[in-house]
Formats: sequence, C-alpha cells, structure tokens
Amino acid sequence: MKEPRYLRLFESGELRRRADRAREIIRECALCPHECRVDRTAGERGKCRSGELPIVSSFHPHMGEESCLVGRNGSGTIFFTNCNLACIFCQNYDISWLGSGDEVSFEDLAGMMLSLQARGCHNINLVSPTHMVYAILEALALAIPAGLRLPLVYNSGGYDAVETLELLEGIIDIYMPDFKYIDEDTAGKLSGARDYPRRAKDALKEMHRQVGDLEMDGRGVATRGLLVRHLVLPNGLAGTAGAAKLLAWLSRDTYINIMDQYRPEYRARECFDLRRRTTLEEYDAAVEMAREAGLRRFDDRRRGWR
Ligand code: SF4
Repeated sequence: MKEPRYLRLFESGELRRRADRAREIIRECALCPHECRVDRTAGERGKCRSGELPIVSSFHPHMGEESCLVGRNGSGTIFFTNCNLACIFCQNYDISWLGSGDEVSFEDLAGMMLSLQARGCHNINLVSPTHMVYAILEALALAIPAGLRLPLVYNSGGYDAVETLELLEGIIDIYMPDFKYIDEDTAGKLSGARDYPRRAKDALKEMHRQVGDLEMDGRGVATRGLLVRHLVLPNGLAGTAGAAKLLAWLSRDTYINIMDQYRPEYRARECFDLRRRTTLEEYDAAVEMAREAGLRRFDDRRRGWR
C-alpha cells in the first residue's frame, strides 16, 4: 500500500492547523453553503441539527458500494447521522432526518477507523461527512499516530463549500459526491437548497482539482480521484442531460455511477412526480444521455457497461 498523503500533513503539523481552523469555522458555522452562522461549540444547531461531537449510526465493512471501493474485503463505511441537505425522498431518512445514531467522542471515531483497517477494509468511507469535517479532522489527528494508513473516501451529497474542501486537500484521497440536480427550483423544492446546482458545480471543480480522475490499482481498487453518483429520478427531475454535460466538461474521464434504485420514501409523496419508481426506459435514457455528453467511464455493477 502506498503511503497516504495525509501522513506528511500530520508530521508537518498542518493537519493540526486544519483541525483548529475547522473548529473556528463551526463557532460561526459555515462548514457548508447554508452558512447558518451558529456556534456549534456552544450547543447551537443549524440546518444539519448537529453539534460539535459526531453522531454515528453505524460503521462496518460495506460490500454494497461501488466495486472499486469494495474490492475483496469491503469499504470501511462510517455513517454519520443527520445531513446538511433535506431531501424529502431520502432513502436513509431514519439516519438523515430522524437522528438515529449515538454521539461518540473523537477517540471513539478514531477507534472506528482503526478497527475498520484491522478488518482488512480497503478504505475509510465517510458517509454524509460535510457537517462533520471538524470531527473527522480531530479523529484523524488521533488515528494517524495510532497507525491509520487507509485512503479516505469523502462520500457527500455534493452540497459542499469550497473553503471547507480546501481544508481537506492532501487528506481526502477519493471524493464521491452526488450530483443530484441542475435545476434550482427542483433543488429548492426537493432538498431545501436552491443554490445546490451552482454550489455542487463549484465543489466538483475543487474536488477534481485536488484529486483528478479516478485511479485504481492492479486489483481494480480505487486509490485516488473523483467518482460521481447520479440518482435517476422519475419524470426527468434529476436533469441528467445537463448534469452529464457538466461532468464531461470537467473531464470526459469522470467516473460516474448512474443509479437506478430510486423508490418513493419518507416524504416523497408530497411531490407528485416522485410518487413512483424510475422506469427501466428512464434509466436507459439517462445512460444514453451520459454517453452522448461524452462520458465514458461508468460504474459497471449492474449491467456490465464500460
Ligand atoms: S454544517 Fe450545519 S450548521 Fe454548519 S452551515 Fe452547514 S447546515 Fe449550517
């Protein structure tokens, strides 16, 4: 295994400085584009309903993620409770909306990372990390001297602030954001963030600047780069053609997982167009749109596309 880049940042003291900077940010929180400006260290809560300490719903080797993350032994997934987006159709609404999980210390979070490494996982996969960047940096400051060496995956909804992502340069190896919509009205109505398309575009550019296109080792396991998830919604709500054009503009070699598993969950029935599953025809059309836009690296778990 190659030595992770975060080791150098830890040894130079830069990781400590970044954690301190992240703590300053949550005192008037602008970790994500919502910029709630609440003092999370004093118990105030913003739109993500989160304080200073992380809440974790589960952590385990995950065999259901993209094959390039799962490899042979699984992706070492840590699911953070709460979310900085408010998607009315969230498939994990018990975690993101209802707060299922336990508050843990930074030491506990570091211990989870180390235990996933000890179980042979290929990476540490931080799910819904955006509102927990400060806690992640604090935990890394403990886990790295204790032997953590796995690549880190930042598995976000795509609503990330560029200034926060800059704190993660040289620390995160694999960025795996969603790219949910390109239409502002849709983003506002379905996720409570009208500026999502613009913010996600800026975040994608910054992520790609830091890590480039997805790279894999000889076993097909991802080591570094950008992997984008795009969930096909019924009735064209995800704006796939526009999203694919933007990703192809970033790089034709952007690795994309076009997902077909939408089902009406939680409050999805509040939106008429979300009341049914995505059809096979809609999914096939979405893949064709991505091809027409020039994309050529597709996650191949379902149907063998390349
Ligand atoms: S991380 Fe939470 S509190 Fe901070 S700006 Fe985003 S939603 Fe608001």
